[in-house]
Amino acid sequence: MINELAEFCRDLKSDFTPKITDAKKPVRFWSEKDVYNGNIVDAFVIIFRTHGCSWALKSGCTMCGYFNDSMWKKVSDEDIFFQFEKAIKQYNNEKTVKIFTSGSFLDDSEVKPKVRMKILSRLSESAEKISFESRPEYVTNQKLKEIKNIDKSKDFEIGIGLETANDTVRNYAINKGITFNDYKKAAEIIKKNNCKLKTYVLIKPPFLTEKETIKDCIETVDKIKKHTDTISFNPANVQRKTLVEFLWKKNQYRPAWLWSVIEILNKSKKNTDKIRLQCNIAGGGNIRGAHNCKECDPNVLRAIESFSLHQDPKIFKDLDCECKEKWLDQLDIEDLGFGSIIDLSR
Ligand code: SF4
Ligand SMILES: [Zn+2]
Repeated sequence: MINELAEFCRDLKSDFTPKITDAKKPVRFWSEKDVYNGNIVDAFVIIFRTHGCSWALKSGCTMCGYFNDSMWKKVSDEDIFFQFEKAIKQYNNEKTVKIFTSGSFLDDSEVKPKVRMKILSRLSESAEKISFESRPEYVTNQKLKEIKNIDKSKDFEIGIGLETANDTVRNYAINKGITFNDYKKAAEIIKKNNCKLKTYVLIKPPFLTEKETIKDCIETVDKIKKHTDTISFNPANVQRKTLVEFLWKKNQYRPAWLWSVIEILNKSKKNTDKIRLQCNIAGGGNIRGAHNCKECDPNVLRAIESFSLHQDPKIFKDLDCECKEKWLDQLDIEDLGFGSIIDLSR
């Protein structure tokens, strides 16, 4: 069954050809707000274009369409550095920098160690905190030691997509190819090297009902709270050439309700103390992203964004809308069907 799922995810990409063929162009870079040491600061974000996530090249996760931004072939060291040079021209010494590669920044086959070190060294001249992402198998003592040695006074944050602490859900609904133990081992290495860990938790993987994903997220928070510094909840959105899109087109998948997101954030806040919780909703308010109804989406999304910055759940208190009843009804009846109930109003 796992093999079939992996094969299915691979086959969905079999006719994929990258739209952008210029390896000298980063995917995007911009400035946004972030929180650093309890203060709201400016953050600079760069998405590099690399050959792509090595796991996506083999089969890939059921909800992930990041490969749509990848080259799908080798990108030279010079090209990655050229992308960096291009982005850095717009860098205004923002205190924090977030690096994305649509894969793993610590995977040597995506970004060579010397390129990685050059980028981090340059950024740490002015940034106080630099974040990047990696699958756990690429997190090694050696790599983190070298990175931390660039400047011990700087914060280096590694984001790991655990998605859920439940191995069955991660294997059978997400096809992630890692175990909870792999995550815990990486978390230990991160802690040992005085780096910070951000854990990504997925809201609404395919095949889970709304109620099941709420429960799964809350249980996950409980299991990871002693390992991580930040938890970033990401509701799945419907990305191109993914299993999630395949199901969505057949009316067998609905992205999460924003009411579920609020429920997860409220309950997680009560269950955690020092951990920062955040939630980035790609495509929020759209039919392909987490949404409620058109009336309340903008307000609810603003509240979730504000919660991510200020960590204050009071922001959710006065939110209400007629569609909340519909959501509650769905939680009651969805056990009777298979998987998620679709959004007939859109
Ligand atoms: S979610 Fe992460 S690990 Fe999974 S395919 Fe996408 S980039 Fe790779
Ligand atoms: Zn509504």
